[in-house]
Amino acid sequence: MRIYEEISKIRETVRAWKQDGLTIGFVPTMGYLHEGHKSLIDTARRENDRVVVSIFVNPMQFGPSEDFASYPRDLEQDAGLCEDAGVDVIFHPTAEEMYTDGFCSYVDMNGLTTELCGKSRPTHFRGVQTVVLKLFNIVTPDRAYFGQKDAQQLAVIKRMVTDLNVGTEIVGCPIIREKDGLAKSSRNTYLNEEERKAALILHKSLEVGKALLESGETDAAAVKAAITAELETEPLAKIDYVDVVDFDTVTPVEKTEGPVLVAIAVYIGKTRLIDNFITCNAL
Ligand code: AMP
Repeated sequence: MRIYEEISKIRETVRAWKQDGLTIGFVPTMGYLHEGHKSLIDTARRENDRVVVSIFVNPMQFGPSEDFASYPRDLEQDAGLCEDAGVDVIFHPTAEEMYTDGFCSYVDMNGLTTELCGKSRPTHFRGVQTVVLKLFNIVTPDRAYFGQKDAQQLAVIKRMVTDLNVGTEIVGCPIIREKDGLAKSSRNTYLNEEERKAALILHKSLEVGKALLESGETDAAAVKAAITAELETEPLAKIDYVDVVDFDTVTPVEKTEGPVLVAIAVYIGKTRLIDNFITCNAL
């Protein structure tokens, strides 16, 4: 396995692979890898001849008061996980390598990014789309793998690839959870013991919403109310949003017909966590 910081090096490697007719699977990450990331890597490994993982904490997708500086980083441990998972190349650029002096081009979207996380993180998806398109242009993957954990991001990237005719297939992968149900996340490391227990309320509240839908409820407001009520039983939880949206367009729905995304964002102490479920297999 090789680790490259320079765009020119990864381009050279990719060019040689393509000349040999090899397919490339790509997993973009911000590092501090866990089993959620590993499931994406494993799927990429199964479906492609070569696998590239990028590890880049992208400053552009963090707001001014967000956790860019404190976001956990551990390249050595990440490299171990990647090596064991059969990754061929880690791309680990510096911010200067990605954003050269005078950088002023962005990818933005009118729809899909205004609801859910877009409300409290208004510049987040612009940063995500810009870096993902840049990474696609550098790695030129046949397939790229994204987790349903960040369901809005997955929908946004799918839309971007369609709209801008990017020749990469987007593959959505299911949420990987801890044994007790908490969705795995690099940000879980911020939680102290008490908060870690309190964080279980995210999954628990979604289970309440899911049970209601399975019992035949089709009113989105009723589902949101049930999830909200469950979240409010946890004193350490502060709700950012509870929403029911169309999975493809990320617009609110009144009735839960078709594949809907039920998504929540909740502060546990200072840590903002997200979780969701999709009603049909919309991945
Ligand atoms: P991040 O490093 O948090 O930017 O995540 C990189 C990729 O891993 C994204 O596509 C995430 O959706 C995905 N991911 C993160 N956590 C999980 C998880 N628990 N299950 C599945 N995918 C995940």
